Amino acid sequence: MKKNTHYTVTYQNNTKAGTAKVIIKGKSPYTGSVTKTFKIMQKSISSVTVTSSNYLTYTGKPITATLSVTSGKTKLKSGTDYQVTYQSNTNVGQARYTIKGKGNYTGTRSGVFYIIPVNISKTKITAEPVEQDTDTPSIKVTYNGKTLKKNTDYTVQSVTPIEPDTLQMAITGKGNYCGKTYVNVPITIPETTSAAGITEIIAGTLMLLGVLGVSARKKRKFFNKRKVLSGVSTCMVAAVVLFSFSVNTAPEVTAQTVVTDTIAKAYASADKKKAAKIKITLDPGHVKDYNRFTYFSNYSEGTQMWKLACELKKELESYGFVVVTTRPKVTDFLEVAERGQLAGNNGSDLFLSLHSNAGGSSASGVEIYYSMSDQNNKVLSDKLGKAIAKTMGTSFNGSKNRHYPGATGVDYYGVCRNAAFYGCTAAFLVEHGFHTNYSESSFLKNSSSLKKLAKAEAKVIAEYYDVI
Ligand SMILES: [Zn+2]
Repeated sequence: MKKNTHYTVTYQNNTKAGTAKVIIKGKSPYTGSVTKTFKIMQKSISSVTVTSSNYLTYTGKPITATLSVTSGKTKLKSGTDYQVTYQSNTNVGQARYTIKGKGNYTGTRSGVFYIIPVNISKTKITAEPVEQDTDTPSIKVTYNGKTLKKNTDYTVQSVTPIEPDTLQMAITGKGNYCGKTYVNVPITIPETTSAAGITEIIAGTLMLLGVLGVSARKKRKFFNKRKVLSGVSTCMVAAVVLFSFSVNTAPEVTAQTVVTDTIAKAYASADKKKAAKIKITLDPGHVKDYNRFTYFSNYSEGTQMWKLACELKKELESYGFVVVTTRPKVTDFLEVAERGQLAGNNGSDLFLSLHSNAGGSSASGVEIYYSMSDQNNKVLSDKLGKAIAKTMGTSFNGSKNRHYPGATGVDYYGVCRNAAFYGCTAAFLVEHGFHTNYSESSFLKNSSSLKKLAKAEAKVIAEYYDVI
């Protein structure tokens, strides 16, 4: 029998998974019809393509990944074709999603994404004014309406005061928070200090009047009583003017004098003691003989940067700094993440990854990528970049940031990202000019040039940390 000549075939419910019908109807001279059922099986979800966002920043609330689920050219619909559930998707770390097939799809599959810490600078920080610079200010940190816990979410350190009437506190992120930010806490002049100030002024005024009185008596022949009285009242007016001026300025001047003296004394007597509290990790980039594609056969980035690190270590140690390197031997090698992690784990205050850049032969100049986890990093970056460029006789192309793809605010370079994540937020990747540039490469291959460079860099660091 031939289809469409002797019978026709029609289907029902034959698109979606489930029971479908096939109806065979006779064509003249055949009559009647036969209905048969058949099953359309669900497609296994394990055969579809799933892509998910890799890195998402902590929000304090459960995070859902942006998932794209496709089967061939068909985009599957959440709720119709599948259901998603999440596990461990609030705090920093590895989060998991599970997709369960629905309707035409069956089975489950799961995948992971990462929740990365949010920079502490994105939080709202308020501080109550304090009365003295020795007081511990009460600081409140909130993020997305949530109050952060001290020592769980952040730690607080006091920073050497710059202004006599301001305390600067550093807030370092911990756990779900990363990076470092600063808050200025005003020091209010306590009532008692003002009262003391007023007493001093009154005493001063009385003394002044006394002196005038004495001199008036001595010069009696030049003064009559009325003149003395008018002189006294002039002094009174002057004293009142002086008094109102003093209320605003006198305590501040006193405080400034004390602070400056204390700092000056500390610097003069304890340079090396101060430096000994600062740990620096130097990371000569790559490994021995790495990056030989330069103008000179005896230049390789991995070797020359190791030599520079050795010189810089010596220089920094002569100022009293504690210096660690990621490659004590030229043949040593660590993975990118391990280098930054080492600086964080050993409690370094500063991490410098030393490199030379590659580009066309006309590309030139120094550039520094600084970790976005600490807003203050740009200050050192600018100083260091200018000093290196000056020593190398080239230009400083600037202090730069590079964001991790899909994660704005997260450092692109693994050395800096990992250093910051593990607690060393002052992390820098320094490009000492281009080894693909003739004059910059000639400079860098020369050992005495590297010595000069090390001296210049160490001096900037010593100045930055107020050691000299
Ligand atoms: Zn490099």
